[in-house]
Amino acid sequence: MEIRLVEDLLEANNRVAAKLRGLFSEKGILVLNLLSSPGAGKTTLIEKTLQRVQGSAKSAIVVGDVQTSRDKKRFEEAGLDAVQIITKGGCHLTATMVEKALASLDLDGLDILFIENVGNLVCPAGFELGEDMKVVLLSTTEGDDKPGKYPAAFFHAQAMVITKIDLLPWTNFDLGLAKRDARRIHPKLKIFEVSSLKGEGMEDWVNWILQRAEQKRGNRKSVHGRAL
Ligand code: MG
Ligand code: ZN
Repeated sequence: MEIRLVEDLLEANNRVAAKLRGLFSEKGILVLNLLSSPGAGKTTLIEKTLQRVQGSAKSAIVVGDVQTSRDKKRFEEAGLDAVQIITKGGCHLTATMVEKALASLDLDGLDILFIENVGNLVCPAGFELGEDMKVVLLSTTEGDDKPGKYPAAFFHAQAMVITKIDLLPWTNFDLGLAKRDARRIHPKLKIFEVSSLKGEGMEDWVNWILQRAEQKRGNRKSVHGRAL
């Protein structure tokens, strides 16, 4: 009985996600859904990434938190367009929440949309939001065993960003082990090692996103005129 209920829930979510995916293709917007444990540095990574792409791409953020709109405030102080979703206890974002949030964003001319999911490595992995890809963050200040413990997040993500790489010398985080474990779960996983604050590794990461955004924009032409 319980299993059936979860399936229905996911199915309903997937229907809305498919609608969003159509909308994002039509508009040529690259959408990244960021997953991590609380405190891995999602907000800082997004902030620093979007400051670097300003000028080459127009971007916005949908940020999910259980409570408070502090992250939205942080983004706005950094000069970025953000919409906050407060889940009031909900431990993941759903496509319906994202759909509602999009009403307060101008999607025309938008190139990149970051969705900062609720800090949680478990259920956000199972909920599609119409994104092009999930990106999972793993910071050097948490356990290098996270990929093994939360395989779904690493399996469903296209990229893993190892954050706070500048702090590596002060931790017992085993970089090789974390990467090996993640690749065992997902052999084609793209891996970046960055320090959002110090700038280390940011160029590769930002260039990769810009490239993907350009591809998405390019594909829009072929989608145009076709019934979605
Ligand atoms: Mg945050
Ligand atoms: Zn959840």
